[in-house]
Amino acid sequence: MKNIAIFGAPGAGKGTQSDFLVNEYTLNHISTGDLLRREMALGTPLGLQIKDTMDSGHLVGDDIVEAMIEKAIASDTQGMLFDGFPRNTAQAEVLDRLMAKYHRTLDAVVCLEVPEDELVRRMLERAKVSGRSDDNEATIKNRLQEYHHSTAPVADYYRSRGKLITVNGLGDIATIAADIKNAIDSL
Ligand code: AMP
Repeated sequence: MKNIAIFGAPGAGKGTQSDFLVNEYTLNHISTGDLLRREMALGTPLGLQIKDTMDSGHLVGDDIVEAMIEKAIASDTQGMLFDGFPRNTAQAEVLDRLMAKYHRTLDAVVCLEVPEDELVRRMLERAKVSGRSDDNEATIKNRLQEYHHSTAPVADYYRSRGKLITVNGLGDIATIAADIKNAIDSL
């Protein structure tokens, strides 16, 4: 049973490669972004609470996502793919604590590297079809800022623990997937 996290800036291709990883290793896909968007779509009290933050491209409170993650880990029976979590080092520390609590191990963190101009190009392209309220030019700027400020240090957190796998996220989807698989299988 494997537990993997996929990491990268918005637009790096985490969603696309998550689909591959989930099928390849039969993992439970835990996307905090999807879970949060579902709350908004259902109009739950939590969904209403987070809407402005999500729409502005900023991160929602750690306590909110941590509660979702704990629920997902507690009920998992097949191995997990964390997508969009952890987003800051405090969340990374919580993930360590929760994995220990539920007797799991995070095997690897796959980091997709894509140059900034390509990230923006992809997000603007996706904005035309995604229907996501945070896929627009102003919000994209905030999301990239959040990434550089809060999320990028998470790579160092895992690098120093020997868990970071860095993959070039430029190129065709199948080649990137094959690179990820090679790296994971040679762990
Ligand atoms: P994503 O689908 O991963 O791009 O996430 C979309 C939005 O959901 C982000 O811009 C944040 O507002 C929120 N979000 C997703 N994951 C997290 C997280 N781990 N911590 C805080 N906010 C998150």
